[in-house]
Amino acid sequence: MKTHVKALVVGGGAVGTGIAYHLAKAGWDDVMLLERDELTSGSTWHAAGLLPLFNMGYATSHIHDYSVKFYKTLEEETGLNAGFYVVGNLRMAQSQDRMDEYMLYASTAETVGIPYQWMSPAEIKDRWPLVRTEDLKGAIYHPTDGYINPADVTQAMAKGARQRGVTIERKWQVDGYTWTGDHWDVTCTKMVEKGGNLVPSDEQVVVHAEHVVTATGNHAQRTARLLGLKIPAIPVEHQYIVTEPDPALVDWRKANSEHPVLRDADAKWYVREERGGWILGPYERNAPARFLYDVPESFRADLFPLDLERIEEEYMSMIHRIPSSETVGLKDDYNGPICYTPDGNPLVGPAPGLRNMWLAEGFSFGITAAGGTGYYLAQMMVEGEAEIDMASLDPKRYGPWMTTEYAARKNEECYEHVYILHHPDEEREACRPLRTAPAYDRQKALGAQFGQVNGWERPNYYGPLDAPDSFDHDARSFRRGGWWQYAHDEAKAIREGVGLIDATAFAKHVVHGPGAEAFLDWFTCNKLPRVGRINLTYALTSHGTTRTEYTILREAEDRFVLISAGAWHAYDRDFLLKAVADTEDRFGRINVEDWTTRYGVFALAGPKSREVLGSLIRDADPATALSNKRFPWLSLRQVELGMCPTVAVRVAYTGELGWELHHPIEMQTYLWDRLMEAGEPHGLKLVGSRAQNWLRQEKSYRAFGTELGRDATPLEAGLDRFVDLEKEFHGKEAMVETGVRAKCVTVLIDGPEDADPWGREALYDGETKVGRLTSGGYSVAFGKSIGMGYVSPELAVTGQKLTVKMFDRSWPAEVVEDSPYDPTNAVIRVDG
Ligand SMILES: Cc1cc2nc3c(=O)[nH]c(=O)nc-3n(C[C@H](O)[C@H](O)[C@H](O)COP(=O)(O)OP(=O)(O)OC[C@H]3O[C@@H](n4cnc5c(N)ncnc54)[C@H](O)[C@@H]3O)c2cc1C
Repeated sequence: MKTHVKALVVGGGAVGTGIAYHLAKAGWDDVMLLERDELTSGSTWHAAGLLPLFNMGYATSHIHDYSVKFYKTLEEETGLNAGFYVVGNLRMAQSQDRMDEYMLYASTAETVGIPYQWMSPAEIKDRWPLVRTEDLKGAIYHPTDGYINPADVTQAMAKGARQRGVTIERKWQVDGYTWTGDHWDVTCTKMVEKGGNLVPSDEQVVVHAEHVVTATGNHAQRTARLLGLKIPAIPVEHQYIVTEPDPALVDWRKANSEHPVLRDADAKWYVREERGGWILGPYERNAPARFLYDVPESFRADLFPLDLERIEEEYMSMIHRIPSSETVGLKDDYNGPICYTPDGNPLVGPAPGLRNMWLAEGFSFGITAAGGTGYYLAQMMVEGEAEIDMASLDPKRYGPWMTTEYAARKNEECYEHVYILHHPDEEREACRPLRTAPAYDRQKALGAQFGQVNGWERPNYYGPLDAPDSFDHDARSFRRGGWWQYAHDEAKAIREGVGLIDATAFAKHVVHGPGAEAFLDWFTCNKLPRVGRINLTYALTSHGTTRTEYTILREAEDRFVLISAGAWHAYDRDFLLKAVADTEDRFGRINVEDWTTRYGVFALAGPKSREVLGSLIRDADPATALSNKRFPWLSLRQVELGMCPTVAVRVAYTGELGWELHHPIEMQTYLWDRLMEAGEPHGLKLVGSRAQNWLRQEKSYRAFGTELGRDATPLEAGLDRFVDLEKEFHGKEAMVETGVRAKCVTVLIDGPEDADPWGREALYDGETKVGRLTSGGYSVAFGKSIGMGYVSPELAVTGQKLTVKMFDRSWPAEVVEDSPYDPTNAVIRVDG
């Protein structure tokens, strides 16, 4: 066996094989793949092989789309037939809500270029008469979709990989990883058969690998332990059953081609043909998580016993939909482990805290995702970045608070939710509340309906005081849900009066020490603020795109507080710590302290916010303490609010006069009560993140994870005023070289009366697709829908007429000047 390689891929399932293939294709000629057993002996062998293009996420849509196209080319390249049947995929809808879901998805599909067609119940019946259609509203049909033989496609990728120089070694298990400072020493053990089990022998080899990728499927927990990480990839049981031949189907097939993969989402199953019979794959309730800590040695290419009772409901609904299946017996069954993560997306990208260690774990659609994952991960490893933003798959989207219990329960929930209506305003219930700030109970008592961000409970909006537990669930919609009016009134309160927002979830890192200034000056692209001032700035990737957005508070010459998005705490922290370590020779030792859970943040905003805060502030001259002279916009001051020492920052993400109040977390309820008392005479309204998201779009404030990410530079995001081209900073050259491929714009939309965009819709100029929305919502200032997104630079001009695709129709949209509400920032700077 080779002992020195550029990249070692651990795991020979579909995913690992796809990665090895693409690393070689991307130009790395020294790649080895190790598999502890046989290729495909993990989950891959028993997958049903469906390749669903339907996906609500932008990055995963790209990944699936790439795979489907790539698999079609494999036979020509390798001579191996991967068993790809392009039979199409028919997703049926039993309700208008489900059709709305498909229409939102269809607009996303258009942004990626995935073809689809609409079908009415009559058209379905006409084409596939075995399907009962009376209770259907319609369906979305993907003609290019289908299914593949998972083992064959893996073998085809393996052959393609070998042809490109990859070494594949079977029966070698990786048992240890040691980082030496510039490479990994990977301890590998020869596995041998013993009494039907696969057991380690005494033969060991240490492989010296510059890079390691783990794609260990159901063994992710063992991998996590070997690496000293927490990885929330834990499998759940998944079953499918195969029926005997159905005479009606056999008869029909004499003169007709195969049925598409049928999906009755409301009944929670997929069905496809299999040798004259049917395969039914349900996503039922109560499927248990398995292998919470490890896969037993005795579990090889094994299965769990069938649990027919658990899938009875889905079975009956298949019979309802395909009545001819009623009299057909069962021929075969599969109940295997299918890896999940709490949000259903796999974990793909650099491992937290480690160098040259890449994770590709937690795949629940691993056959569909293998090709695309290989393609984009190889770009990340070989070129430094992928052409799409892979942040939604990044392993660091879960922080150190994540536990085995959390992952197991969330993964079970995620499995059960595969076919629920994926409302964009969906909030899932399992494992909550978990991370709560002290004001949580007070907020809840005042009607807060919470969302979960990075485990934190954060008010989305404040509903009625006496709301039943099901209120938020029932308020969800693809259109304006039951929460919309509450968010509307909250947004208006901030524009006209005063509102209080809980922003405690923000990530907060204190960077200090003699080299801190020089380091941050290099690390971020804007000028650093003077002492007592703040700046918005960006840390860039080596490709010049946006890695992180920071608000930097300068507390002293050598002390800075970096505030970034709460959802991206571990992601930002990892990047910062690695950058500090990498540049120690240049900037010296710099201290980084994580204050995320030590400080809470309230944002007080609105024209009356000065009066509210003024009544609380303890100062020799309270009348002037909040004046422009003593407390100008974009500055910070240490203040005392009653007995609470607070760092007040004059900034508001809503675009109104306002202050962020960073306070010791243990004083949060004290400060909350004081703010409520002080706000009462001024009509203070509690405001959630939904209203805030609308308000920030009226100011064209870009958000991380939507407008800002690794697929656009700050110049493309239209943030030129926050980029200091006079100085040298990380990623500058690449940013300038990239130029402006697309530009971020704000649009006002004359949309449907009962709906706003969600930020996933396609943008058109006449018949031509010219971009996509990344955010959407409602503007209380303009009384219509609003959105932000990217279009080609020549269309990014004020007054440009476009259309937005929503609910299968085109709605007029107009590019407006940046910050259409209060473009001169007059209301933010108002004196008093
Ligand atoms: C019943 C069922 C039906 C499914 N249907 C579909 C479907 O229709 N479409 C779809 O896209 N997906 C489907 N899936 C999911 C799919 O099977 C998985 O997502 C996919 O197989 C994951 O591939 P993988 O390469 O990540 O993992 P695996 O196939 O599990 O491969 C991981 C490999 O890593 C090896 N390994 C682990 N640790 C080590 C180590 N330390 N050293 C060396 N080797 C190691 C293992 O032996 C294993 O071979 C289904 C799953 C189930 C259970």
